[in-house]
Amino acid sequence: MTYPIDKIRNDFPILNQKINGLPLVYLDNAATTQKPKAVVSRLSDYYLMENANVHRGVHYLSIQATEEYEKARQYIADYINAEKKEEIIFTRGTTESVNLLARVMAPWINKGDDVLVTAMEHHSNLVPWQEICRERNARLRIVPINADGSLDLNFLDKLLKPTVKLLAVTHISNTLGTINPVKEIIKLSHDKGVPVLIDGAQGIAHNPVDVQDMGADFYAFSGHKIYGPMGIGVLYGRETWLRRLPPYQFGGEMIEKVTFEESTFNVLPYKYEAGTPNVAGAIGLEAALRYVRQIGIEEIDIHEKQLLAAATSQLEQIEGVRIFGTAKEKAGVLSFLINGIHPYDLGTLLDQMGVAVRTGHHCAEPLMDTLGITGTVRASFGMYNTLEEVDIFIKAVKQAVKMLR
Ligand code: PLP
Repeated sequence: MTYPIDKIRNDFPILNQKINGLPLVYLDNAATTQKPKAVVSRLSDYYLMENANVHRGVHYLSIQATEEYEKARQYIADYINAEKKEEIIFTRGTTESVNLLARVMAPWINKGDDVLVTAMEHHSNLVPWQEICRERNARLRIVPINADGSLDLNFLDKLLKPTVKLLAVTHISNTLGTINPVKEIIKLSHDKGVPVLIDGAQGIAHNPVDVQDMGADFYAFSGHKIYGPMGIGVLYGRETWLRRLPPYQFGGEMIEKVTFEESTFNVLPYKYEAGTPNVAGAIGLEAALRYVRQIGIEEIDIHEKQLLAAATSQLEQIEGVRIFGTAKEKAGVLSFLINGIHPYDLGTLLDQMGVAVRTGHHCAEPLMDTLGITGTVRASFGMYNTLEEVDIFIKAVKQAVKMLR
């Protein structure tokens, strides 16, 4: 079957507009993806016709909203092949998922312990661990990367010791595009008794995710990176872990029994969902995953890799270009610099030509330090980008370089 690009583009009206008089070429998908009509209309249907608070109501709308919310949880559990829907905790996004885990794991992390992160982590999967390590007098150890932007697995193997309480590693680097061999990494870690959190903020949008097959103890992701709403995300955690760990926030929904003296806590997953949840977000995320499934994540992956290959080979021909992240296993993320040109200047000129890219450190400052640079220009592809857009992007880069030189 041919890839239904016309249908897809038609489903994303935002793409069909002009910026500065030129057709929009949206290449900032690693920051956030656009939303198809199916997601927006699901949200609007919910708010116009179905809205109610969940779980405590006896009236029709509340019961319906609760059913839809729990159906979304089940759909997401099936999508990532979690064993049970109770292992799906709704959060605001990857950042909150990581913070939740860091907070509830804190009592397990003591003086002399280690937490491992990698040199390619987004700040969201680094700073929470840095803070917990500081608080608990533990050490944060960094798994380095190789010259091509792949992880140094030999070094990781050496760092995996009995003092390590957790390895937190990204599935796909938002800056380098590197797809980490998460199954192998988890096996290596589990062999040494170390649990693993996978930051799936990018992974979820480009790869099939099967948490049981990869063996993840925890997997975090955001709805907005996979064509879903902002403000909704997931922390998947294995039931055995979630049962053992304490609650995160306290208040309504997460309790079983409350007296003025003390409280007992609800069962999974509600133990981790204090307060009124983002019901529309959860339902909207289900709609987004349904949409992705209908196109096929493998087909999307193949399509994006074609765009990446075309963009990379054309970009390499530009004099003075340096591409960061050339690992063999790589998703549709292209970070680069052009000698003598500031990334911000290049990004601004591209915007004037209708091309949306991101410039800067991409929330990975320590990675920039490792690479000895302050930032890059990053083009990142989504399911709706086209080869024609790659050509426009490359032409725009060439024109900008001419102007800036
Ligand atoms: N981790 C990675 C790899 C990311 O790319 C991002 C966002 O860019 C995050 C974490 C944080 O995601 P959010 O801002 O949705 O919480």
